[in-house]
Amino acid sequence: MKQSAEKNTGGKRWRAGVLGATGVVGQRIVQLLDNHPWFELTEVAASERSAGKTYAEAEVGRWKLDTSIPAVARDLPVRELDTALDCDFVFSALDSSVAGPVEEEFARAGYAVVSNSRNHRMDADVPLLIPEVNPDHLAVLPHQQKARGYSSGLLVTNPNCSTAGLVLALKPLEDAFGIEQVFVVTLQAISGAGYPGVPSLDILDNVIPYIGGEEEKLESEPLKLLGELEGGRFVPAAMHVSAQCNRVDVLDGHLECVSVKLKRRASPGDVSEAFRTFRPPAQVQTLPSALEHPVVVLDEPDRPQPRRDRDLGNGLASVVGRVRACPLLDVKFLVLSHNLLRGAAGAALLNAELLAAQGYLEKAPRKAVLKA
Ligand code: NAP
Repeated sequence: MKQSAEKNTGGKRWRAGVLGATGVVGQRIVQLLDNHPWFELTEVAASERSAGKTYAEAEVGRWKLDTSIPAVARDLPVRELDTALDCDFVFSALDSSVAGPVEEEFARAGYAVVSNSRNHRMDADVPLLIPEVNPDHLAVLPHQQKARGYSSGLLVTNPNCSTAGLVLALKPLEDAFGIEQVFVVTLQAISGAGYPGVPSLDILDNVIPYIGGEEEKLESEPLKLLGELEGGRFVPAAMHVSAQCNRVDVLDGHLECVSVKLKRRASPGDVSEAFRTFRPPAQVQTLPSALEHPVVVLDEPDRPQPRRDRDLGNGLASVVGRVRACPLLDVKFLVLSHNLLRGAAGAALLNAELLAAQGYLEKAPRKAVLKA
């Protein structure tokens, strides 16, 4: 059973800002922060196109979620990317064309930055984090702060949306049998491209067999996530990943066809059992958003399906199905995960919860950095 927020945090609430709050990931973060037990949304920021409007005005015609804009967000003024925000830490859902230097600037100004963007994921001193997989990688943060001269600021990132679901499913297999090779073919949803994203005339009735930079991310990020942190340095996992990425005519939810060569022989039954018995580490199980079973196995031969299964576990599950023998490697299966929740907003929220639980948000700037 989860501990209450009060038990974990001493009843404190942290004030959160969202950079890139008007985009498809930012909207999800704003939605998830509504009634969060530990975090309270106090600031939203975006480009100069949105700045100066209220959040509700900026989102006219752009809010894509089924629930309405949370009351706490509606009247917040959308700020420019100014480091004088009235909050204790920031989520970044900024377009990657601007995220890199802006996130560094916020960290330098004293904010913990919990980022969705690709810019700093592979930096040698930045944790690429999935709390259920590698919470120990947070131990690099003191090295990061020292090397970059950050006082209380820090940078933490979550992986690419396809990597997130894949690696959560690979973790039980790496732990139980070891992994040598992974071959993955993705079928990725349209919302993964942001808003307005892929033109309808390109994607309707079609599959686009190319997503710029995606295969490189899927081939490198799992090695960092499943690797070790030794003496303040990341040592990548000794495995090889080959990826082919496709954009398909689905709104949300990335489906991935995965074949794995294991270090130690295992039957499909053994592999299913490893998925089913996987539990997050103890320090993660008590986080407000954590699932008891983050890897869910479906037994029906035609599942998982994006439309029907992407919301399992509040969109934070890695949903596995069709576990069977592979004539080329050892075992093959499908993985489905919600690209905007497990792959972005929900992942960032879990990362922030872990930072809070481990004391990394304690020294955040609060109002001290506000301009006079
Ligand atoms: P999006 O819908 O295009 O939103 C981008 C956000 O960045 C908007 O709030 C936009 O503000 C802001 N922005 C763009 N240019 C800016 C500038 N010059 N100055 C300040 N703000 C600027 O993109 P998204 O899909 O939400 O993705 C956000 C980030 O998360 C990206 O780095 C993306 O790679 C990453 N990510 C996305 C997914 C996914 O499934 N979509 C998954 C994982 C990670 P305006 O509205 O004012 O233009």
